[in-house]
This record gives sequence, structure tokens and C-alpha cells, in this order.
Amino acid sequence: MSAQDCIFCKIGGGAIPSAMVFQNDDVFAFLDIGPIREGHTLVIPKQHYEKMEDCPPQTLAAIGAVLGNIAKAVVEATGADGYNVLCNRGRAAGQLVQHVHFHIIPRTEGDGIFHRWPAGKYKPGQAEEILRRIREKL
Ligand code: AMP
Ligand code: ZN
Repeated sequence: MSAQDCIFCKIGGGAIPSAMVFQNDDVFAFLDIGPIREGHTLVIPKQHYEKMEDCPPQTLAAIGAVLGNIAKAVVEATGADGYNVLCNRGRAAGQLVQHVHFHIIPRTEGDGIFHRWPAGKYKPGQAEEILRRIREKL
């Protein structure tokens, strides 16, 4: 998808109205229109990149520089106990908008969101094998 038909580019550039939480030269944050819960916020680079790994380091640095502060404000304003920061990358991971974005989802003890963390267990040798394959790609 090109930047021209990207809804988040239009939001970040102010061409489409949004509930803006924060902006600077590089980063735009706004309320998710379909909140998992009140205060659910999206943080995007103003420049169009589809995936996190497409972003140059300075773009990720610009996001990282403000993400924690925005998340803290969301938690304090909503009276939550914590938050999840989530980046859905790819259709399999639930990415619907093809412009990289980070969800900040305020959380409260026992709120039932992401109810169960499906932790597994490695079989003998399995961790070493995946470790080798990941390291090879870096
Ligand atoms: P994802 O599934 O990670 O791609 O998330 C996309 C998110 O963008 C969803 O949570 C939508 O509710 C949200 N969204 C889509 N369009 C808008 C919009 N115009 N304003 C605010 N949030 C939006
Ligand atoms: Zn875009």
C-alpha cells in the first residue's frame, strides 16, 4: 500500500481528523477508534513504513523516545494498573492497517483482556535449534 492511500498517513498529516494525544515532528499518537478499553492509544511514525523492520533506526528511536511517556500518561489518566504495548506485524498477527503502529492498551488487574498467556515448553534441543536459526538471520 502506498502512502497516498494510507489512512494512518492521512491521520498523521492531519488530513483526516483524529483524537490526537500527542505529536512532534516525527511521531503522532491518537485514540484508537475501536478501543479495547478506554484510553487505548496508537503511536505511529508520521512517515509511511509498513512494518517495524522497514523503519530506519532514527524513526524507531523517535517513537521509543516518547512511547514510555505516552504510556505513563495513558495509565495515569485511565486509573489503570499497567499497560501492554503491542505491535501487530503481518496479517497472521492481526495487522489490519499497513502503516506500522504501536498499541498502548491500559490494563487493570483481572480485566480479562488477553486472558491467558499460552506459555509453552521447549522439548530437549528445540531451544538451541531455534536459537541457532534466529542468530543466523541477524
Ligand atoms: P491493527 O489490527 O494492529 O492493524 O490495528 C489497527 C487499529 O487501527 C485498530 O485497532 C482500529 O480500531 C484502528 N483504527 C482504524 N482506523 C482508525 C481511525 N480512523 N482512527 C483511529 N483508529 C483507527
Ligand atoms: Zn502510511
